[in-house]
Amino acid sequence: MTKGLIFDIQRFSVNDGPGIRTTVFFKGCGLRCAWCHNPESIASYQQLSVDSTRCDGCKRCFDYVKGYGIEMINGKAVIDTNIHDRTLDLVHVCPQGCFSVVGEEKSVDEVVSVIMKDWDYYAESGGGVTFSGGEALNQWGFIEPLARILKEKGLHLTLDISGYDPAGILTKTLGLIDLYLLDVKASSDDIYHKYVGQTLNPEGMLKILASAHKPVILRVPLIADVNDDSRLFDYLAQLNLAYDNIIETNLLPYHTLRKKQQFRLLNEREFFTVADQDRKNFWKNEIIRRQIRHVIMENELLSQ
Ligand code: SF4
Ligand code: SF4
Repeated sequence: MTKGLIFDIQRFSVNDGPGIRTTVFFKGCGLRCAWCHNPESIASYQQLSVDSTRCDGCKRCFDYVKGYGIEMINGKAVIDTNIHDRTLDLVHVCPQGCFSVVGEEKSVDEVVSVIMKDWDYYAESGGGVTFSGGEALNQWGFIEPLARILKEKGLHLTLDISGYDPAGILTKTLGLIDLYLLDVKASSDDIYHKYVGQTLNPEGMLKILASAHKPVILRVPLIADVNDDSRLFDYLAQLNLAYDNIIETNLLPYHTLRKKQQFRLLNEREFFTVADQDRKNFWKNEIIRRQIRHVIMENELLSQ
């Protein structure tokens, strides 16, 4: 049976849909958002992750690869992750545990058994399970049988989608998924091309979800001076008016807690301005002025 390539299973999530949830993060994403906070999720294969802080300079990794793509600098190994992205053997070579593998293949039964540990919490809180990524749609072949089992157990299921679905998988998910989290990353093709790597049309997905009477929470990464212009807020207002299946909009201000900087991105060296309170107040006013309903930013309800 197909296995899923998963980079994390996070229990007790409270920001990925209603109640207490388990969020399953699938590896692999066709986009390259310059502000991505999960760069380890992008490649659709198992990857080497490096943490040199514990390196004692023993040189075993250097000797193992005969010096190719590793330099010893100031008594520590410096690994070129462009070259050793898939040299997973290094995990077994280093006595200090400086290497790990991101992404684990798991069976449906293995994932179900993790999820069912928290059944009581889901039942008490109105929670359930969220499939996220990366782009979870890319592994729908694995998620579908998993979702069927979870549905039979009565669990509420949420699917977190980036808005990029060139293979048209979304329609296959409608019979099993209760709630969708859909990204709105920009309001113009220019921004999509420059910062995301693909032009997206979240409205196309909203139409499909509206026809199937599926509730949607929009998730909007807000990056000062990149996508936070009036066109974006106008676009959100327009979507809000046109689709009453949008039950909530989450504004997600950019922050700098990028977790794994050794993972490469399209704009790896691009760092953005972290919004100050004045900028957040400006966003709040843009939302209120346009009467966009039920918008939340950093746990604050900006509009009813
Ligand atoms: S094997 Fe580990 S501890 Fe030894 S040099 Fe390489 S990274 Fe450092
Ligand atoms: S869609 Fe999500 S996972 Fe993919 S690159 Fe963008 S932010 Fe990262």
